Amino acid sequence: MGLEMPDSASSEGSTPASDEDISLLDAPPDKQEEELETQAESSPQQPDDIPANGTSKADVKLEDLFDQDDDDEFPGLSSNIPSSSPPPTSPAVPVAQAEKFSDPQIMLQFYSRLFPFRQLFQWLNHGIKPSPDFANREFAFTLSNDAYLRYQSYPTADLLRKDILHLNPSRFEIGPIYTTNPRERKTLRKSSAFRPLSKEIVFDIDLTDYDDVRTCCDKANICPKCWKFATMSIKVIDIALREDFGFEHILWVYSGRRGVHAWISDKDARELDDEKRKALTGYFEVIKGGVQGGKRVNPKRPLHPHLTRSLEILKPYFRTAILEDQDPFLSQAGSDRLLELLPDKALNDALRKKWSSSPDRPSAKKWADIDAVAQTGVSKTLDTTKLREAKEEILLEYTYPRLDVEVGKKRIHLLKSPFVVHPGTGRVCVPITGDASQGAQVDEFDPFSVPKVTELLAEVDAWRDSADDGGFVEDGATMRKVQEFEKTSLKPYIETFERFVKGLLKSETRLKRERDEDGGGVDGMDF
Ligand code: ZN
Repeated sequence: MGLEMPDSASSEGSTPASDEDISLLDAPPDKQEEELETQAESSPQQPDDIPANGTSKADVKLEDLFDQDDDDEFPGLSSNIPSSSPPPTSPAVPVAQAEKFSDPQIMLQFYSRLFPFRQLFQWLNHGIKPSPDFANREFAFTLSNDAYLRYQSYPTADLLRKDILHLNPSRFEIGPIYTTNPRERKTLRKSSAFRPLSKEIVFDIDLTDYDDVRTCCDKANICPKCWKFATMSIKVIDIALREDFGFEHILWVYSGRRGVHAWISDKDARELDDEKRKALTGYFEVIKGGVQGGKRVNPKRPLHPHLTRSLEILKPYFRTAILEDQDPFLSQAGSDRLLELLPDKALNDALRKKWSSSPDRPSAKKWADIDAVAQTGVSKTLDTTKLREAKEEILLEYTYPRLDVEVGKKRIHLLKSPFVVHPGTGRVCVPITGDASQGAQVDEFDPFSVPKVTELLAEVDAWRDSADDGGFVEDGATMRKVQEFEKTSLKPYIETFERFVKGLLKSETRLKRERDEDGGGVDGMDF
């Protein structure tokens, strides 16, 4: 079935892509060399070799941990840019504490005892029996010395696990399914024969993109107040993906520090070409332009149903998360910005006068003043429709999702795997929700209660000390050994992931059966 973009999906400026246009290696320009996968790309001071236990590791780590965030899909990209500033000397997190999160011994224990390889395999393989969907999938590893290995691939979950235990990466990323096994790409006679076939559509939301509207934190810092921006984004995008595009299998994953990733895993989504990905991403590009000057939200009227629905979802958050928590119109600059976005000069003059006599007037009161003052008739020329529309657009400017649009546009992009550990915070990149019926999970999700890798390992040890049943639990009529993750606070997150994968596999089985019936049913059973 073809995927039709809803009407307002913009494909402006798009040009049809031919096979020749597909660049095998995306983004970091220095990665556009075939040989790059064995290069240590961490810093100019560390040329081609991959030190086993790099002596300059501490320096590199500091920069990695505190200067940049790896919430983007290209770890190490920014570390290729020689930094003119020295590593920070007073990081927000004590060095000793930060160091231990990416301690190789800790990572090794995490991978061997807790990482859900089986579930990850089933998700990426779209079935239980190993298939090319898994075997031709690219994995990319960031090693503990910051070397970056691309184009790794594995026929089975066991082989992936074995190699991860061997390489012990500080984190790893997932790329597309290629026409062939990525490890064998150089054996192909024509390099154009090696190209990405399919991949989940991914979205990346990063709270640094909200720095012009959040007053509580900036840069990589977040707090429960500004986390609400992530909550709002998930609410608005998830329902649109389901209702407007018909997708069902959408996994939302915490990026470990200040962002959220969406993995749209439906077969239709995975097979979307880059042009359609671009159009899909464009559907959510409502906030445009720079921070300086003019309206950033300028939708067509009447509003597209997606925006009408989004407004309804966002209104209560605007009241609490924006007007109360962020209080963006309290400051003079914020107040000026609000007036700049209102359409009527006489009304603005009256509001400015009112507010200048009470400089501490909070945002909620200022927002209420707009209608109250308008109703006094200060403006003879007031267009009430324009005023209402301006207020809707202000609401959207302060609440509507801000996507890192580049990430969603191409199949070839890599994105950090769910369940890896963020090296800066030690927190596991856990799923937030993978199920529309679990909307409450989104509101309840607290990034500060996401377990850290060190806590999880301590929980396993504590359980062992307290266990008196020999480590077995009832499972139906039989007893089975308790899995390590079940002894930890990672359990509910792995269960969320398992439910998500189960739902996806069910759809895949149904699609396969339909295909087989259409084609005469000669294909064997998968599982
Ligand atoms: Zn904050």
